Amino acid sequence: MFLGEKMKNYEKILRKIFESVEPHKHPFKEPWKVLISTILSQRTKDETTEKISKLLYDRYKTLDELKNANIDELMELIKGIGFYRAKAKNIKEVAKILIEKYNGNVPDNKEDLLLLPGVGSKTANIVLSVCFDKDYIAVDTHVHRIMNRIGIVNTKTPEETEKKLMEIIDKKYWKKINEYFVEFGKKICLPRNPKCEICPVKNYCKYYNERKTVAR
Ligand code: SF4
Repeated sequence: MFLGEKMKNYEKILRKIFESVEPHKHPFKEPWKVLISTILSQRTKDETTEKISKLLYDRYKTLDELKNANIDELMELIKGIGFYRAKAKNIKEVAKILIEKYNGNVPDNKEDLLLLPGVGSKTANIVLSVCFDKDYIAVDTHVHRIMNRIGIVNTKTPEETEKKLMEIIDKKYWKKINEYFVEFGKKICLPRNPKCEICPVKNYCKYYNERKTVAR
């Protein structure tokens, strides 16, 4: 299938993916917890992030407690997370900035979010879509991998994917993409050994069709 043809079909592809899984709901409601756990999630498995975030919020119940955390104790607590040393420093600093600059609130715009330590585009977009119901595409490892496998984009980095998707995809789908693709990436389009045989979009998928051709 040519790329142009795939572009025309992207709505059909998205709808099939949305119908095939339940959306992934963020485990935390309070914006500061969504923000901190998304900072922790970078380069870490979802299950590990969730488990350690819960431990963190049991130990530090407020932003103020997190701001005043002993850094060694904080590092020890989040040790199972990738890059835990840098992340411990970042989340302590974020707690301080939120209290001192934003009155304990999380900013609801991308410019301010990107100024916080450890916050990149994916983290900012998760916060804006989950906490403030704004139209952003949060491109994590699942979204990046699946969009490239299907062939909706042909990109090297999540940042490039985000940019490309914003050009191609209607805004009404932006918020939904992350929550469905995370589940789809865990249940069907797994990082290794994707379950192509049961995949509802295999007929549109570049990866599947290329493999089929090679196997012939
Ligand atoms: Fe992923 Fe396979 Fe489905 Fe393509 S056909 S989206 S590679 S599971």
